[in-house]
Amino acid sequence: MGVKEQFISRAFFSGSGLVGDPTRRDFLSAAAALLVGLGLPSTCLAGGGQHGSGGSGQRVVVVIFGGVRRAETFAPEGIENIPHLSGDMLRRALLFADIRNEGVTAHFNAISSIFTGNWQRVDDWGKFAPTTPTLFEFFRKQLRVAQSDTWVIASNKALTSLIGASSASEYGPSYGANVVFPKQLMIAAVINALDAGRTGNLANRGKIESELQAMLEAGNYEGLGWNVFEGANRLDARVRSMIEDAISTFVRSGGPTSGDELTYLVSREVMRKFSPRLLVIIFSDVEVAHFGSYALHVAGIRTGDRLAYQVWRDIEADPEYKGKTTMFVLPEFGRDPDGSATNGFFNHRSDAESTRSTWMMALGTAVEKPGVIERPVRHVDLCPTVAGLLGCPRMELQGMPISEFRV
Ligand SMILES: [Zn+2]
Repeated sequence: MGVKEQFISRAFFSGSGLVGDPTRRDFLSAAAALLVGLGLPSTCLAGGGQHGSGGSGQRVVVVIFGGVRRAETFAPEGIENIPHLSGDMLRRALLFADIRNEGVTAHFNAISSIFTGNWQRVDDWGKFAPTTPTLFEFFRKQLRVAQSDTWVIASNKALTSLIGASSASEYGPSYGANVVFPKQLMIAAVINALDAGRTGNLANRGKIESELQAMLEAGNYEGLGWNVFEGANRLDARVRSMIEDAISTFVRSGGPTSGDELTYLVSREVMRKFSPRLLVIIFSDVEVAHFGSYALHVAGIRTGDRLAYQVWRDIEADPEYKGKTTMFVLPEFGRDPDGSATNGFFNHRSDAESTRSTWMMALGTAVEKPGVIERPVRHVDLCPTVAGLLGCPRMELQGMPISEFRV
């Protein structure tokens, strides 16, 4: 985090200095929640294209939560934190009770392993792409699927755009997913407003909103921290307006706000405007645990539970998705056990059951019959499973397709 960002961060978090009237405080508290992600590599984004015709016609939505222990979720003492997952959703779901991360329990490697079907051991902070092709690349290359059909929308500050495509020869970014980090877009926009000496305009939400809109419309993508995948020199107009709408809704909402709320709003817009056949949503409010607040960590779990349920309801309400979509919900890993040398729930570095074993919920078309599967299933087994649902040819991977689904 640079000096400027530290200053802004302090100003927002302290609630003093720049902060005056209540309207301003509302907006700043929203912005503060977003500022956690400062100083990250810029967003990659590209849009456009028509739906490819290949494959099964099925759609898949994967919702990922960051690190969440069983103790705070699907355990007698944790169930109150996940009223939707353990209630309305569980009744129609297949719950895998022992999902195992047998690889590196750090964010980039965990997500890379889930979406390549091979245990990845690349840089923890996403400086290098996964070494074997991602599900997005398989899907797009094998079935000639457009980029606008595969999206990753993430709050997680430990990810980079390199999560969307591998470094494998014959694959790579030209077959990658659209990768969007809404929180970073928002932060970049706020910082730009301050940079441009227009801090006086922070006085109310409406003005901030028009600042954000103006910057988005200015076409100054670099200044916003936007980047476009190589080969695409300008942002697709539909993508730009979608982001504008979502930010505008977020700024106007005035309710409880967090990075995950914004990620949800952008995901919803992407579903409405592009109806991608493969959508990955990565929430990470729970990762506030690294700062040591158990209460905020649990609040993040509750937010994730609520937003996952909203995603499911959006699927059920959208004719493009209803009846032809399977949704998966899973954490990246657990967290360390209480009393461990790494500070318990703060981190996720221990080679312990509490860190390696979590759960996964599946709902929708591919679920024949609700129930609980107790046998262990590995993270790398999800990629070939989803590939099969989408109609991709069989791949050579460490992961094996999960047999309980109707293809
Ligand atoms: Zn973490």
